[in-house]
Amino acid sequence: MSRKKLEAEYLSIVKAVEAHLEEAKESGLEEIPVQVKSAPPEKICRTLDDVSEWLGDCRRCKLNSTRTHIVFGTGSTQPDLVFVGEGPGAEEDEQGKPFVGRAGQLLTKMIEAMGLTRDDVYIANVVKCRPPGNRNPEPDEIAACTPFLENQLKVLKPKIICTLGAFAAQTLLKTEEKISKLRGRFHPYQGIQLMPTFHPAYLLRNPAEKKSTWEDIQMIMKELNLKKT
Ligand code: URA
Repeated sequence: MSRKKLEAEYLSIVKAVEAHLEEAKESGLEEIPVQVKSAPPEKICRTLDDVSEWLGDCRRCKLNSTRTHIVFGTGSTQPDLVFVGEGPGAEEDEQGKPFVGRAGQLLTKMIEAMGLTRDDVYIANVVKCRPPGNRNPEPDEIAACTPFLENQLKVLKPKIICTLGAFAAQTLLKTEEKISKLRGRFHPYQGIQLMPTFHPAYLLRNPAEKKSTWEDIQMIMKELNLKKT
């Protein structure tokens, strides 16, 4: 099509639109309604059951096709302290409970060394389904699952959150900083003090880091007025 013809076509379209608007104005139209596609409203969860119901038989990411159980979280519903790990391993997937394998046994020892039991705290993970072969959770899986963790924390309102390993700290603090740089001090998270420390699975491979982890745990104990047993 020649440039002249194109211009003529364009002009005729503009004129047709003008005529249409003029007609609409004459019949009382004052403004053109514009439909804005807004983000879906934030899901309001008042209890852990609300969060669990919202999660449902989740199929939001690809981990659903290889999981046995969704590992939602366990423990007190009014905890002062919440631990957040990375994601279920084989035994957690099998039992549907967080931290019940070898790393879980070490976490249980850490909790007991604080003078607490697993029933006094709440334990959750960044992703609620096992990444196959214990690989790291992928960004799309973390993104799909994070709203549920965030809502669990909103409902639980603990005094302290202790994140275990890089993924939990980086996800909640929205940073890419290394765990070795993040650990050892409290960070603000939604009005809650968040202490990043090493993951128990890492401590099983690197027992020399148990000392610094115990220092992090002692800072938490001090905040919660817990005495060493
Ligand atoms: N590692 C985690 O991060 N979470 C678990 O539940 C178990 C092992």
